[in-house]
Amino acid sequence: MSAVVPATAAVGPAAPRPRPKLIRGFYVMLIVVHLLALTALLPYVFTWWGVVALLVGNFVFGSIGINLAYHRMLTHDAVQFPTWLRRVFITCGVCSLEGSPLWWVLNHRIHHQKSDAAGDPHSPRDGFFWGHMGWIYTSDAERNRLSTYEKYVPDLMTDPYLRWLHRGQRWTLVYLAHALVIAAVGFAVGFAVTDTTEAAVQLGTQVFVWGVLVRTVYVWHITWFVNSAAHRWGYKSYDTPDNSRNNWWVALLTNGEGWHNNHHAAPRACSQGHRWWEIDLTFTFVRALALVGLATNVVPVKVAGYRQKDATA
Ligand SMILES: [Zn+2]
Ligand SMILES: [Zn+2]
Repeated sequence: MSAVVPATAAVGPAAPRPRPKLIRGFYVMLIVVHLLALTALLPYVFTWWGVVALLVGNFVFGSIGINLAYHRMLTHDAVQFPTWLRRVFITCGVCSLEGSPLWWVLNHRIHHQKSDAAGDPHSPRDGFFWGHMGWIYTSDAERNRLSTYEKYVPDLMTDPYLRWLHRGQRWTLVYLAHALVIAAVGFAVGFAVTDTTEAAVQLGTQVFVWGVLVRTVYVWHITWFVNSAAHRWGYKSYDTPDNSRNNWWVALLTNGEGWHNNHHAAPRACSQGHRWWEIDLTFTFVRALALVGLATNVVPVKVAGYRQKDATA
């Protein structure tokens, strides 16, 4: 099977969706993590170093883990890395708590095939909130079937690391382990560099809240904005049949994923910026790795089948 399922469905009116089945545990977890992340604004927890950690964490776990590993490498086979580095990058994605790689890729390949039409898992045509995050805490029996996995991700099901992460939801344990490690490092540094137990506990708490909770929530929402905002607001450079848009502020937040109309026009391309000013820092990182021989088979931009339009909204 090709690594990319071609976009064949035409955009039409929002099709009636089967009544979604709420996954209550996941819904509760999302709310709890959001509320805990909000404690970052309390004077006891707020620190500008936390903001720096958030930006660095966004690049490591969001840009490398989600944009590069889950999306461009696994979903679209846009670039290849040595096995050890591939697994490091996949693990960064797992630490963003966005699902097992197989589940994430399956949903995204369906999205490309049925974008903004019936069967798209997260079109904002079914409501902005649904496209942004509502779809995540509902279960879709059809998408959970083994046959669906065999249809959409057969190339990845042969990867033992991806199978290991998926089986028994082990990926969630990896996420928990990384959260504990970051918390432990924070408290250890706190006791090493501060004079009082109170100061050490405060520093450890700040590292945990900013380095894990806030960063997780931040990466969630900027990823989800690609599905919601970048399918509603922005300009179309190509006349793709979906409603994908190039959205500058989503591109800024996600380090390149907001050039989403470009991406729908050339899904296999590793770079998502097609004009000189469409900055894609995720791709800049790939170029740096290619220079030292760690990134290979980087798929160039090649748009076939879509007419180029003026960059107007
Ligand atoms: Zn899309
Ligand atoms: Zn894609």
